[in-house]
Amino acid sequence: MHNAIQVHGLKKSYGSHIVLNGLDFQIKKGEIFALLGVNGAGKTTSLECIEGLRKYDSGAIIINGKMGIQLQSSSLPAHIKPMEAVRLFAKWNREKIDYTLLNALGMKEIEKKQYIQLSTGQKRRLHLALALINNPDIIFLDEPTAGLDVEGRLSLHKQIRKLKSIGKTIVLASHDMAEVETLCDRIAILNQGNIVFCGTASELTDKVGKKYFIHIKTQQENIAFETDNIEDTLISLLSDFKQKEIHVLDIKVDRGTLEQHFMEIARREAE
Ligand code: ATP
Repeated sequence: MHNAIQVHGLKKSYGSHIVLNGLDFQIKKGEIFALLGVNGAGKTTSLECIEGLRKYDSGAIIINGKMGIQLQSSSLPAHIKPMEAVRLFAKWNREKIDYTLLNALGMKEIEKKQYIQLSTGQKRRLHLALALINNPDIIFLDEPTAGLDVEGRLSLHKQIRKLKSIGKTIVLASHDMAEVETLCDRIAILNQGNIVFCGTASELTDKVGKKYFIHIKTQQENIAFETDNIEDTLISLLSDFKQKEIHVLDIKVDRGTLEQHFMEIARREAE
């Protein structure tokens, strides 16, 4: 069995509002998988259905492994101390506490504080520590780095990569495209109740089209061009610069960012 999660025909409505209109996708064992979509697309609803926290109307979800779920912020009592929460969760799950893991997540530095006194980043590290207490095979992270500074974000990315390296499957919902691009093996894009794309970031680039972005820095200015023919566009641009005696300092060619491709897919779907 290579799939950690299989979702077939998942449907969920809130009253007459159809949020999930028959989702079909698989998450492979050991991959970092991201669920993307604009606000209200149904990412949290999908995750909660998979996690077993929310009832769905129809469809089937097959889970192959033990799950660990990162709590949303302010889910713990205000005055509980991090190690009290850890002990509570360990007792609840009948698991031994892994102090090496807790130290790696920086729990030692915050052990004397109460939950209410923790920063956003410290809360998220505690939530991750609690999600890992039952030694899960599949870890769910809903917007894991929202509100974190660069250092906090990089440190959490390091932890997530470490979890992948020991064979865990990570499922996350995020709005941070740069994060998803660097961290995730595959992504699914949710739009108006459907999965409109599921695959790798480079497959998404191929789907969006053979578009290239040329960035040129001259002595006078920085200019960007969009093209589907690099050779012709570069030859014409460079000969034009040469004729006008404009000196080119730098040229970069790329195929656009995940964010640009995500926006393009959303635009096409809206049409
Ligand atoms: P965001 O990116 O803003 O977190 P999301 O993609 O996670 O959004 P959901 O939270 O799953 O989206 O919400 C999907 C839709 O379902 C939204 O229109 C939301 O208003 C609606 N919704 C979510 N929970 C409920 C609920 N308990 N009752 C009624 N409607 C709900």
